[in-house]
Amino acid sequence: MAELLDATPNVVLAVYAHPDDADVACAGTLARWAKAGCEVHLVVCTDGGKGTPDPDVDVASLAERRVGELAEAAGIVGAASHQGLGMPDGEIENTLELRAELVGWIRRVRPEVVLGHDPTAVFFGQHYFNHHDHREVGWALLDALSPAAALPHYFPKQGPAHQVSVAYLSGTLEPDVWVDVSDTIGIKAAAVECHRSQFSGSDGWAGEAVHVRAEEEGRRAGVAFAEGFRRLRLGG
Ligand SMILES: [Zn+2]
Repeated sequence: MAELLDATPNVVLAVYAHPDDADVACAGTLARWAKAGCEVHLVVCTDGGKGTPDPDVDVASLAERRVGELAEAAGIVGAASHQGLGMPDGEIENTLELRAELVGWIRRVRPEVVLGHDPTAVFFGQHYFNHHDHREVGWALLDALSPAAALPHYFPKQGPAHQVSVAYLSGTLEPDVWVDVSDTIGIKAAAVECHRSQFSGSDGWAGEAVHVRAEEEGRRAGVAFAEGFRRLRLGG
């Protein structure tokens, strides 16, 4: 039987690779929690400057455009804060430096719950495999969460240690918990549609795709619309 998460955490940190990732992955959940009083913080590691098939697009101006799209979407979701780290798109690696940065965010925000990419998800069917940046940021976040952020001798300059209780990983092939996003599916669609540089046109196909995907997960969870996650209980 599919487990539906009902409780609303107090403080949440979502860490994703590209400006549109959190909205595609979990905007329904973030909006639901924000509406219920949760403080939602979002960190986006790369600038998303290479996210186009158009050879004539200037990388810096695309990155700048995506900063605006991210801000608009974060406002719709109801995030308390959002921050782009501006690292070059497609070039991110799970380095000591990235882990230190993420440990700093975890220790400053001090979230109960963290959301991010499932780095073990590689092949989705026969036509898509997971983006390099999603895998690297996913592993870096897990490495930052445990044990690094929770133990004081890891990155001692990044603030006092903090134990995150639970991580929910999206884009997973093995979801084991679901959030009912039936009340926030419209917010999710609107947030995803803010990323016009990625989902061009105003014909609403992106919002339509959001509904179709959430409906599939909803069928697995026994509700109209859902988002699925792999849960890791980290203690604390
Ligand atoms: Zn992405």
